[in-house]
Amino acid sequence: MAEEKHYDVVVIGAGPGGLTAAMYASRANLSVLILDRGIYGGNLNNTATIENYTGFKNVKGPDLAKKMYEGATQFGAQYAYGTVTKLEDQGQTKEVTTDMGDTFIAKAVVIATGSGQRHLNVPGEEEFSGKGVSYCAVCDGAFFKGLHLIVVGGGDSAVEEGMYLTQLASKVTVLVRSNKLRAQPMMQEEAKQNQKMEFIFNTSITEIVGNKVKVTGVKTHNNQTGEDGEMAADGIFIYVGSYPMTKPFQNLGILDDQGWVKTDNLMKTKVPGIFAIGDVRETPLRQIATAVGDGAIAGQQVYQYVSGLK
Ligand code: NAP
Repeated sequence: MAEEKHYDVVVIGAGPGGLTAAMYASRANLSVLILDRGIYGGNLNNTATIENYTGFKNVKGPDLAKKMYEGATQFGAQYAYGTVTKLEDQGQTKEVTTDMGDTFIAKAVVIATGSGQRHLNVPGEEEFSGKGVSYCAVCDGAFFKGLHLIVVGGGDSAVEEGMYLTQLASKVTVLVRSNKLRAQPMMQEEAKQNQKMEFIFNTSITEIVGNKVKVTGVKTHNNQTGEDGEMAADGIFIYVGSYPMTKPFQNLGILDDQGWVKTDNLMKTKVPGIFAIGDVRETPLRQIATAVGDGAIAGQQVYQYVSGLK
């Protein structure tokens, strides 16, 4: 049987929030384990350029992730791989189980699992995933040099990543299902000035089509006129919002009806010793800066909580 390992704090998720919480807690001399199912950085790894994080005019997502990881582990926080499958509250201790069969016992847990990218759920999406359908411009953009791309969505992610793709593609057509963008106004302005970027409103994708090898285009529906159409493209990048990564926490009674974790403004859930931060939280703003702020508060609160245990 796998051995149980004991820590003061287990931080689940190594995005900007989790790394910051780990830094604050370990700097307060707590023993800290950061658990993540992959490389540190979370959604930073899918972000080409960040222009709205204090201290940087612009910075590449993976570069910022590396700096944050170095900062987070400098006071002794450890890092381990594993997908958390269960979190159990046992009063003064919490038990964290991973898919690799590891069990970690902690006095406190910080949930920092973030959000995942929603899929369109249209025919062809799964079939052509990795064959022209992508959810990550920074990972896959280079495969589409000089080609025509479609970006789906109208939020910050669609506009920001669409702009990144214009550096590689011959043209980027953004399909927006409503009559307006949701992205920050400054980003919208910048995108509208970009000669390689085209916006088509009131348009949904009903199917992604292709040949035996790759995507060749999409079938569309105009939500205003009711007309159906087709559009050729070499790649489809989907940015239609996010969902909370909270499946292992459903038994704790800490989620809202959409699955985001409910906390107070000290990042405490209703279970003593379980905190939540960043994008996974029920929060009006999901940004790197807000996740980092949440992480600092949680790191400090965890210290107070653990110090107060008998
Ligand atoms: P989002 O803000 O939720 O926007 C999702 C977009 O996808 C909306 O335009 C929505 O259209 C559209 N959409 C949803 N379902 C669709 C469907 N089935 N077909 C077509 N379009 C669909 O998501 P996001 O852009 O991924 O951003 C997530 C969070 O991260 C936000 O809080 C955002 O501010 C933050 N973020 C910030 C930055 C930054 O500050 N630099 C960068 C990226 C993300 P409707 O408007 O019609 O619903």
